[in-house]
Formats: sequence, structure tokens, C-alpha cells
Amino acid sequence: SEKAATILYVDGVSVTFDGFRALNNLSFYVEPGELRAIIGPNGAGKTTMMDIITGKTRPDSGDVLFRSDVDLTKLDEAEIANLGIGRKFQKPTVFESHTVFDNLLLACSGGRGVFQALFHRLANSEKQRIEETLATIRLGDLRDVMAANLSHGQKQWLEIGMLLMQEPQLLLVDEPVAGMTDSETEQTAILLRDIAKTRSVVVVEHDMEFVRDLDCKVTVLHEGSVLAEGRLDSVQKDPRVIEVYLGR
Ligand code: ADP
Repeated sequence: SEKAATILYVDGVSVTFDGFRALNNLSFYVEPGELRAIIGPNGAGKTTMMDIITGKTRPDSGDVLFRSDVDLTKLDEAEIANLGIGRKFQKPTVFESHTVFDNLLLACSGGRGVFQALFHRLANSEKQRIEETLATIRLGDLRDVMAANLSHGQKQWLEIGMLLMQEPQLLLVDEPVAGMTDSETEQTAILLRDIAKTRSVVVVEHDMEFVRDLDCKVTVLHEGSVLAEGRLDSVQKDPRVIEVYLGR
């Protein structure tokens, strides 16, 4: 069935805040290894949708399943993160006074704490994973640079790397290219496409040039529901989508 093949199954989800229906029978399905872009005007429900998946908000009704059988609506945020769902918020949050390398090390330290993480002897497997992540986020040459000295784009990549150290099967990314230069934006599309070769990635984004570069299926949200879904070229030609973006 459709459900059996999904990493993320969002089906008939509704949520109301003080009588305002932020999500209205929202359904969309993400396959393992898929890269998916979620677009939609302000207030469409994108943030609420991310909050529902990560357990920050509970739906009033509907199903939210991970790997087709784990009911996310029954779990709290920490349990969902531990299952292998990573969330990247819009603003970068890195340890400014530590190097790029140590930020990645701290991210895989589990509950060890900053001091222990930095001074314990690195296992070879840990070293290996940090090297792989540095290569993925293309910050290998900057490994010894203090995070405070990175550009905004580089900080975003570092934080994505920190999430990767936790080996998520599903990565949720909120407006990653806001405030980036054109060249950083292009790099970010390449980076996320790379990451999606080994896991599923859902990206919420406004920047259409960037969404085009992601070269993936697009889900258009409007008033808490899916308005259109498909390749960017075809959804951009959909009269209902044009109406929502231009007709207001
Ligand atoms: P988007 O991320 O697409 O801009 P949101 O998910 O942030 O949309 O918001 C969808 C709608 O729900 C908006 O109209 C917003 O004002 C409303 N909303 C979101 N969170 C809350 C909340 N905690 N309380 C009341 N209204 C909310």
C-alpha cells in the first residue's frame, strides 16, 4: 500500500488554534530517500506542519507516521529526535567559540557534555564520521576555524553537519537559504541533494530559484491543505497556485 512505502506519512491532519484552523485535513507522503520541497505563502501552515512532525504541536485529528508504523502523535519531541528525525531551524545555532571540527564532535557526544566530549580520546569510528561529515558539508579546509568566524552560509552548513552526526533518517530543514549569498544558495541545493542520497530530506522554502535547484517534487500548501503537488514547472503553471501567489 502507499503507507508501507513511506518514511513520513501525514494523513488527514487538522489542528486548530483558538478557533483558527492552521492545518485543514493535510495529507502528504514522503518516500525513503526522497528530497521534498514544501512551499506556500505566509500563514499556509508550513511551520505548524513541521511542529506536528517533531512533536512540538499535537494534531486534533489525523495520522502522522514515521517509517510507516511509528505513530509520532504519541511521542514527545525528545523521543522523536531520538528516533532519527532531525530538525534544522531557520537561524543557525552553532557553538561560536569552538572550531568547526569540535562543533561536529560535540554534536555526536550524546549526553557526555562539552568538557568530556572535547577531552576524551576520539574513537576511530567517531573520527571517521566527522571526516565524512566535513566532506559532505564541504568545510574540511575550515575544520580548525572558530565557528564565530564562519560566514552565515557556512554556519548553516555546519549546523546541518551537526544534525548529520546524529544520523537522522529524516531531516527537516526550515528556510535554509534565507540570508545567504547566491553562491551559498547554489551550494546549499547541491549539499541537500547530496544528503538526500542517503536519507530523506524535507525542505520548507520561499526562494523559488533555490527550489528549482533542488530539482525535486514540490508540495504547495495553502490554508492548511495541499493545493498542488508535482514538479516545480507544473505546479507553477497550475492556475490555483498562480491565484494564491499572484491573485491576492
Ligand atoms: P507558515 O509557516 O506557512 O507561514 P504557520 O504554520 O506559521 O504558517 O501558521 C499558519 C497559521 O496558523 C497562521 O495564520 C498563524 O497565525 C496561525 N498560528 C500558528 N501557530 C499558532 C499559535 N500557536 N496560536 C495561534 N495561531 C497560530
